[in-house]
Amino acid sequence: MNAVYLDNAATTRVAPEVLEAILPFLKEQFGNPSSFHSFGSSHMEAIEKARGQVARLLGAKCEEVYFTSGGTESDNQALRGAVKIDPSRKGIVTSAVEHPAVLETARALEKEGCKLDIAGVNENGELDIESLRALVNKQTAVVSIMAANNETGVIMPLKEAAGIAHEAGALFHTDAVQMVGKSPIDVHSLSIDILSLSAHKFHGPKGIGAIYIKKGIELPPMLTGGHQEKGARSGTYNAPGIVGLGKAAELALTHLKDTVARERTLREEFEKRVLESCPGAFVVAENASRRLPGTVTIIFKGIESEAVLTLLDMQGIYASSGSACSTGSKNPSHVLYAMGVDYTLANSALRFSLSRYTTDEEIDRTVELLSRVVERLRRISPYAE
Ligand SMILES: *Cc1c(COP(=O)(O)O)cnc(C)c1O
Repeated sequence: MNAVYLDNAATTRVAPEVLEAILPFLKEQFGNPSSFHSFGSSHMEAIEKARGQVARLLGAKCEEVYFTSGGTESDNQALRGAVKIDPSRKGIVTSAVEHPAVLETARALEKEGCKLDIAGVNENGELDIESLRALVNKQTAVVSIMAANNETGVIMPLKEAAGIAHEAGALFHTDAVQMVGKSPIDVHSLSIDILSLSAHKFHGPKGIGAIYIKKGIELPPMLTGGHQEKGARSGTYNAPGIVGLGKAAELALTHLKDTVARERTLREEFEKRVLESCPGAFVVAENASRRLPGTVTIIFKGIESEAVLTLLDMQGIYASSGSACSTGSKNPSHVLYAMGVDYTLANSALRFSLSRYTTDEEIDRTVELLSRVVERLRRISPYAE
């Protein structure tokens, strides 16, 4: 029986069209795009095409998009660069539910002398906008708020957060890795200054991403060297990766409306059926005003998520107990903690994340197996009520 992959918030399969676009750049077209000779320099055309494809997905201009190695690097450049622009502004304000690529970078910068303030979220995982407002001031260099959370799927109020940053003269950065390619996002209407995205979260290859930097903002580079990307990001162009990212962006835009509608229908159906068939199950952030179409975390009261994951895995169904980065560490999710979910419940949380390739049959199979697995575990669980 075919595997059911429901861990698309961790990474996604490479789309067949993306693979096809990449292959020539791994086979015959191996030149260095920065070369003088045409064998290499002709690839600049493919790279600029990809830049246009990414820009269109964001509503940005081509010259505002720079290629990086992924979401982690883009987040690092955003924060590390922002605190270098103005010596009188060394403050970073972010939220308690950010990805470690933001939170750990902010903590590292705090150790280097920056001021770090962290705004909370409510029980639905939504940003506490008043707590954010109270933390932003004339010393703030950057406000960094993720577009959508990787565990709960909750979509954050970016326009309001950007407004607060701009009122104080600070930059506004968003880690949009979970949003880009999955739900529409427009950098201009949301007043975003800097944005991070990653190809492998929307059917592109791993190890490639981009940073959007609004025209006019001089964000210092993290990597110095050969002056690629107008000096914003040195390093030999990853032509196969860039072409793959471009194609993935084009496909995401083409399918966006359909995918959002289909994933939302499938996810809502999934939630409804799981809640009906598994007593003691509830959806995290169920009452959040906006959520991603295809991501949901469900808590199965009285059951260890790892036991469920193992039994699902044995039947070829792949889900997650939260973010891949905290799995294995035994620490409960910092996201659920920030939402006030207690430790035991947090250890009963499972994340299911869909993609445009998820089928009705896969959802059917998952619901059926889940109800059997949960019932079986509940019978032997010492915590079950
Ligand atoms: C996956 C992820 C990242 C890291 O992106 P990489 O390209 O894997 O480095 C950053 N932020 C969020 C919200 C993510 O989901």
